[in-house]
Formats: sequence, C-alpha cells, structure tokens
Amino acid sequence: MTILRVALDLPLPRVFDYACDDATTADIGMRVLVPFGNKQAIGVIIGLADKSEVGSGKLKAAVRVLRETPALARDWLELAQFCSDYYHRPLGEVIFNGLPWRLRQAGATPTLKEAAAYRLGDGGREALAQLPARAKVKRALLQTLLQSDCAEQLLLAQSAGAKKALSELADAGWIERYLLQGSPGNGRFIEKLALNSEQKQVLKHIDDSGPGYQAFLLHGITGSGKTEIYLRLIARTVAAGKQALVLVPEISLTPSLEQEFRTRFPDTPLVSLHSGLADGERTQHWLQAQSGTAAIVLGTRLAVFAPLPKLALIVVDEEQDASFKQQEGLRYSARDVAVFRAHQAGIPIVLGSATPALETYAHALSGRYRLLRLAQRAVPQAQLPLVRTVDMRKHKLEDGFAPPLVEALAERLERGEQSLVFLNRRGYAPVLMCPACDWVSGCKRCSSRMVLHLADRQLRCHHCGASTPVPRHCPSCGNADVHPFGRGTQRLEATLAARFPQARILRVDRDSTRNKGSFARMLGEIQGGRADILVGTQILAKGHDFPNLTLVAVLNADSALYSADYRAPERLFAQLVQVAGRAGRAGLPGEVLIQTQYPKHPLYLALAQHDFPGFAQTLLAEREQAGFPPYVFEAVLRAEAAEIGSALEFLREAAELAGPPPAGITLYDPVPMSVARLAERERAQLLLQSASRKALQTYLTTWAEKLHALPQRAVRWHLDVDPIEF
Ligand code: ADP
Ligand code: ZN
Ligand code: ZN
Repeated sequence: MTILRVALDLPLPRVFDYACDDATTADIGMRVLVPFGNKQAIGVIIGLADKSEVGSGKLKAAVRVLRETPALARDWLELAQFCSDYYHRPLGEVIFNGLPWRLRQAGATPTLKEAAAYRLGDGGREALAQLPARAKVKRALLQTLLQSDCAEQLLLAQSAGAKKALSELADAGWIERYLLQGSPGNGRFIEKLALNSEQKQVLKHIDDSGPGYQAFLLHGITGSGKTEIYLRLIARTVAAGKQALVLVPEISLTPSLEQEFRTRFPDTPLVSLHSGLADGERTQHWLQAQSGTAAIVLGTRLAVFAPLPKLALIVVDEEQDASFKQQEGLRYSARDVAVFRAHQAGIPIVLGSATPALETYAHALSGRYRLLRLAQRAVPQAQLPLVRTVDMRKHKLEDGFAPPLVEALAERLERGEQSLVFLNRRGYAPVLMCPACDWVSGCKRCSSRMVLHLADRQLRCHHCGASTPVPRHCPSCGNADVHPFGRGTQRLEATLAARFPQARILRVDRDSTRNKGSFARMLGEIQGGRADILVGTQILAKGHDFPNLTLVAVLNADSALYSADYRAPERLFAQLVQVAGRAGRAGLPGEVLIQTQYPKHPLYLALAQHDFPGFAQTLLAEREQAGFPPYVFEAVLRAEAAEIGSALEFLREAAELAGPPPAGITLYDPVPMSVARLAERERAQLLLQSASRKALQTYLTTWAEKLHALPQRAVRWHLDVDPIEF
C-alpha cells in the first residue's frame, strides 16, 4: 500500500493523506477522487509516501485515481508551490485556481478533442466555378482555402452555417480535414509587412542575448509596432515546434487581436484562455495547451497557469496593466508569475508597454531586465499627437466644457473627422444631492456614493453593485428639488447631443457595452466612420486603431494628481498616453486637449513632450525618497468584519502574534481601508515594508503559519503580497 499526499481545494495550509493500492510515481500530478467528510472531493496527488502521521486505522482510502486526463507536470506543480510560498496561500488553493472548472469537479472527465484543419482536395480548385452564387457560405470557405490551409476553429468562426457547409464540401471531396496533432512546426507565418530598422534592431538585440532565461522590457511608444515584434518571435518559436504564451490585459477589449494572430498564423493551432469562454471550451483549450498541440496560447492573467510542456517564449503585452493582478482569492500578479515561469523554464520573456510599471522600468534601468526601445511610430506617415493643456481657470465653462474644447470639436465635425471625449466616470452624475439639507446619495452597504444612472432611473453603487430607484423627493427632508452633481459619461453624451445636434454621438463605457458583442459592434461603427464624437471611459483607450480620429479631449483628470494613493500619477500617465495614442494613428495629425486647473503640472508637461523616461525618473526619485516600491517591498494583512472595531482589533492581535519585527522590517499600525465599508463589511489593513524581499518573505512565512493556526472566527483575513490597492 502507498500513501498519497493530496492537495484539496480548501483554505487550509496542509495536504491530506490517503491510502491507495495501485499508485506509482507516474500518478504524481494526477487528479484523484477521495472521501472528505461525508462527501467526495477531487484532489491532486502531489507526492507519495510510505508513512503517514494519521494513524493507519484512521487513514482513509482514495476512491480512484482519475487517470483519464494526463497528470500535471512536475514543473507545473513546482510553479504552484512557488506561488503558494510567495503569496502565502494553501497549495491546494493555488493548484485549483489554475485548473479549468470542469477539471476541478468530480463527474464526467473531459477529454481532449483533436484540433483539426482543412485543405483543398482534388478538384477543389474547380469547385468554385460549379457552385451557384447564392452558395455564399461555401464559396467563402473555398475562397479562404484557395489561399491557404486553415484551422477548423477559424473556419467555423466565419459564419453560422460553416459547420454544415464544411461537412458537405468534404463529402463532395472538394476539401479535406486533417488533424493538427503535434505538428505546430509546419504552420506558416504570413509576414505581411517588412520590419523597419528599429524593429530589426530590437530583434537583433534579442537574438544577441542568446538562449536561456532573459527578461526584456520592450518599451515602445503607442503605434510603434510592438505587436509585430511579438509576432516574429512567436513565428520562430512555432517553427521550432515549441509553444508561446501571450498574456494580454483583457481580450474582450481587443477582439481584433485574436483575429490578427489567426490570420498571421493561418494553420497553426492557437487557443485563447480567458474568463469569457464557456466552461467546455476553456477546458478544451487548456487540454490542448497541456498536450502540446496548441502552439500559441493567447490569454488573460489566468492563462499564466496554462500547462505548457513545450514552452519556449512568454510575451506580456501592456505589462503595467492592473488587470494582471488578481484582487481576490489567490492575489497573484500574472506578470510576476510569468517572469518566474520564464526563469524556471530557462526561456526569454518579453514585457511590452508604452508606459512600463515603475517596478519593471527600474529593473530595466538597473540592467536586470534588458531594455529595448521603439521610439518611432511604425506607420511612416503617422506622427505622435500634439498634446496641449487648456487652463480651466482662464475660461468660463459651459456644461463642463471650456470654449477651446468646443471649438476643436466643431472643427473636427466640419472636416468630417472623429473626436473622442475621454472621461473616466460612467453614469450620468457621480452623486445626487439635496441643496436644502445637504443629503447625498450614499450607498447603504459601502462607504461610497450612489451614482445616478438616468437611462434607467436608478442610483447604483459602483463598488458593490447595489441599486435603488431614483427618489422623487429628498429621502431626508422631503424637498422635491434634488440635483445631480458632477458629470459622468451619460451626462456628457446628453450635453454634446444638445450642443451638436447634427453629430452622431456614440457612448462607449461599461454600461453601453454590457451585452455580448456590443463592444465589437461599436468598434465596427467607429472604424467604419459611422460616429463623429465618441464619449468614452478607459475601455476605449486600449490598443485600437481609429484611423479617422484626430482629436482626444480629456476632462477631469486632475483628481489623480494629488491623490493619497502614490500610484495614482503613474496610472494616470499610462492612461493618458494610451488614450492620446488613439489620435493620429494613420496619416492625419492628431491633437490632444487636456482641460485642467494645473496646466503646469509636471505630469502634463511630460505628457506633452512624450517623455516617459523623464517622468519615470521623477517618480522614481520621489518613491526612493519616500520609501515606496520599487525601493521597498510591501505586503498587507487585511481583515473584514461586521464592525470596523473588530477588524482593527483582529489586526492588533495579529501584530502582537507576529512579535516585534526584526530590523529591516517595518510594521505599521492597522488602519481602515480607503473604501472602508464594502458590501456591508468593514475593512481594515496593516502594512508591512522591507527593503529586502527575502527578509519580508521569511517574516511572512512564520507569521502566516501562526495566523492560520488561529481558531476560526467572524473576522475574515487575507495576506496580499505586492498589493496595488489600499
Ligand atoms: P503598438 O502595439 O506598439 O501600439 P502596433 O503593433 O499596433 O503598435 O502597430 C501600429 C500600427 O503599425 C499597426 O497598424 C501595424 O500594422 C503597423 N506596423 C507595424 N510595423 C510596421 C512596419 N514595419 N511597417 C509598416 N507598418 C507597421
Ligand atoms: Zn433634503
Ligand atoms: Zn455599495
């Protein structure tokens, strides 16, 4: 009899032993069905042993090792162990966080379906002439295959009738289906365009650094052709029969990216991995990655845990993006895990951005990462936009707009060009107020305000999601005259519609893009020139090409300049560079107008000069002076309870439990979080800092053990290592 060490999906920092008659070392990494309490649970075997601390009489037997799906590889389990140690979360939780839902559960075991492709068969060339014009779907499929072989997934995505048409074409012998199994190396790469000299330089630098682990920071301005670099590197990886992992912030915001990848690699198995996929599909993609058939895996942060036996390249695009950090459960940074993974696998990783995170930039400056620059726009006639500030104090605002902004908008309308009004606040107005008694629309469940949404006459909390109908009278004094205060995108849309009745105005924010497919449809309308003025939040800022857009107007960005959150200026700069990058991407010159009370603020001056390095140096100097990351490493212990007093009390006890910190580690007093009350829970936190990551980790390890040993109570707590939210 052997003893199985099994990790279960539980918030407990321990593994569980089970007896098994027929287990061998080949079963390490397999899923296993085990009895747990009076139920059965799925676990993962992480090791075998001869003896157990559980007395042999009490040791339960595993029900069955689930050998139908392949074992998780040794290096994958090591990656999980690393995350468990670094983020101080139970190994079982980390392992299960990395598995698709269907593999986390008992029940029918999903198995891998083979990825397939099609090519023309005998007579396929002449088939087009024999098909009537109305056989649109079949004709389109044949057209595609006349150019090259094509992956089945891609053909099926062409139209609703593709599935039926493919099988009929195959029955007629005009096309042939074949399995892509294990042959990624045969896939073609469509070069499409010649690299410019800067891009060639960058590739050469990467080549020169030779094989093995190396982290590169590809710092390229917006539109400098970073994607082209990624594609070339991936093409080589694929040609060598290896796998490439590409992480992007939010796939739903860049629907064209996957399409671009597929057209450039027409017959290479490519899978996406993100939370928008149906369970079955996500499981299939995951299994294709694990089997080594998927040569390219394109996904969001969760894809960093894809099993990749032939991994040879990792790319992280927009590496500064906050969405790479998971803010619940296992609070990991996919970018940081990706760097660890590249190190573990001994392969290159490319972090790309126009505005790198200061942590990353500091590594590049110190030489720990290699810095590669793209300083020119790739499309020869495209120029960086002209950035100017408009001093709000010198103008009388009308409905929130200074006259120069209105004039600039009118000019674009006249010339038939597009404008984007950028405001990072959705809804109609951020708050409803009563002028008689000073009542404001606060959320009952959070320490935040309810935002007025006029379209459906609701007050809505953007923190917890609660909503109530707009009151007709002030709930406090009965006054009938309650007013919206401040501006959101809905109100801007209404203002602009009144001001420019002839303009086609399109609002693009979380509310207007909630329905599936609506975001892609709006992008189509913009790119097709069917909108004149776009009103949008940051979801419009990411990586889209709007060739006819020549003006970006930024409203109300000032609040981040003097925020209590030391990361706010870094984020604002990145966001403004991104949104400014939408203007003037094709031949037309672009202009960015920033309406501000502080036209001389260094952030805006740096922005106007497109000077990220200068701005970053200033921020880094400030951070060093103040003792903030990247010059110190941080972790927070957070607590949540019904009363803020209990949360703070718990943190005080926890600090005592930790004992006096050794030299080099600073333990701060517990404080309420900046949004202290969220969904009826009061939240507080305790910050730790150290200039030594190792010292901090050692300290956290012993502390976490003690915390986990505390008896269960009403206070919920978690550790967040390298936090970005306070
Ligand atoms: P980034 O990701 O750096 O913002 P993209 O990769 O989206 O930039 O490239 C911007 C535009 O430049 C795209 O339309 C792309 O097709 C084009 N482009 C990239 N490289 C070249 C090149 N060598 N010659 C011409 N156009 C290019
Ligand atoms: Zn009132
Ligand atoms: Zn709320």
